[in-house]
Amino acid sequence: MDFSYKKRRPPWKIIRRFLIHQLVFYVVSLVLMGLAIRYSAHEIFDFDYQSAGQVTEFDRFLTALSWGMLAVFLVHAAYTAWIFLGPLGRVLQKARYVRKKGFTGEILHERFDREEPGEWNDLDRALSKIKKSLDKKRRQYNREREELQAIVSSVKNSIVAIDTQHNVRYYNSQFAVLFKMKRKREMSERIEEIFREPSLLEAFKTAIEGGNPADLRLSLMTSRHKLPRNFNVSVSPLRNKDDNTAYGAVAIFHDVTEAQLAEKIRIDFVANASHELRTPLTSIHGYLQTLREDLAEGHTDQVDHYLNVVINNVERLKNLINDLLDLSSLESGAEIESEIEDPRLITESVLNQLDGLRSEKDILIVTKYDLDSIFVDGTKMEQVLTNLLHNALKYVPAHSKVEVIWTEHDSKTDKLIVSDDGPGIPVEHQERLFERFYRVDKGRDRSVGGTGLGLSIVKHILSKHGGEIRLISSPDKGTEFHCLFPKRKPSEASQDMNL
Ligand code: ADP
Repeated sequence: MDFSYKKRRPPWKIIRRFLIHQLVFYVVSLVLMGLAIRYSAHEIFDFDYQSAGQVTEFDRFLTALSWGMLAVFLVHAAYTAWIFLGPLGRVLQKARYVRKKGFTGEILHERFDREEPGEWNDLDRALSKIKKSLDKKRRQYNREREELQAIVSSVKNSIVAIDTQHNVRYYNSQFAVLFKMKRKREMSERIEEIFREPSLLEAFKTAIEGGNPADLRLSLMTSRHKLPRNFNVSVSPLRNKDDNTAYGAVAIFHDVTEAQLAEKIRIDFVANASHELRTPLTSIHGYLQTLREDLAEGHTDQVDHYLNVVINNVERLKNLINDLLDLSSLESGAEIESEIEDPRLITESVLNQLDGLRSEKDILIVTKYDLDSIFVDGTKMEQVLTNLLHNALKYVPAHSKVEVIWTEHDSKTDKLIVSDDGPGIPVEHQERLFERFYRVDKGRDRSVGGTGLGLSIVKHILSKHGGEIRLISSPDKGTEFHCLFPKRKPSEASQDMNL
């Protein structure tokens, strides 16, 4: 509907009534006046009413005079109505405008273009003031609403509010994403349509009917995750300020799944680390005791064997502690220092270190360099290659082949591939393989000297480089680790040249 307060809409109903009243009044007055004049004329001027000619002439004059006066009066009445009632129409129109658009549309502050007569002007001024204060309130209300909206949306928790009929009245974007709300907010949904969990529905009921808040720990399915998530939910009543009665309830869902998982990982880590440290220590302790007893009894034939076991276990402890220290320094946020490095130099250094193990099992290592330079932290990348190559040498059978390839992944990324034709890794283990202390075959892997931390360190180093590690493997088809890391950005290259 086209609605402008500036459009003139005279108050036709009042004007019509006014004019009818005026018309009746004028007609009656003129008739009475006509009769009076006729009567006076007869009395004063002694008109002979028997003389038809005179009478007709005078009556005609009187009638014409009456019509003329009626017309003049009516024009005057219409003019008066226009002048005095016209502003009413405009003020009315303005009031309607404020009512219709008051809180939603733009509010105009200007007053009427023209000054209205007398008190109309005061009324118009009062109306303009009402408009101004309404507009101010509207802006304040909108600002507060936007601020609240921004705060509620920035909260990571999901929030939903319902009324006493259990219809959803408000929810934030996090809630909409997790619990797949219908797009249109007008389509109010009942809370029972979103949640089936009896304890949660009961908590809503208690909050609304009894006014009591409740805290719950729930496992709920969400539309974003395949598995149920754990939530700490607090449900509180929404109360009227005046009489303190509940007009609804609000629930805040705090997803604690990650925190619980992190806590579990921490507990598992402490348990695993203690176990890994205790096993070689127990063995060292046992063998040293036996050695002491043997020596006391003068038996020396097993001394070499015992000492070898002790040395192996000390070696294992040393590896474990080194890996733990590496991991902790990576996790404590130590930054990597990337520079241009030569992949050949890194590879040759690692091959030298592992040559003993390689020749022991007669393994062929094939290297391929598609890259002349890479942008990495040289020491850390050497550790990545050492861990991967060491694993490959450990787990492949004798006389196998291992490949080390440095190549481009895409225009922004380079990669290192370490592949072998060894036993491969079953699919069910692949997802957890990069977790700390995770081993495919605990007994076998420990016996070859693994700590279970190598791949976890590799993953950390690559993520510190802004890269990632990918695994392609299946049993009896060998294993391929693809280490992706970014190339140097052109901007960084030009900065160096300017130095
Ligand atoms: P570990 O020190 O025990 O080798 P890692 O974290 O380096 O620990 O490796 C985790 C597990 O992944 C190993 O215990 C082993 O079972 C498996 N694994 C790693 N690399 C290979 C490979 N090249 N071939 C087969 N299995 C492997």
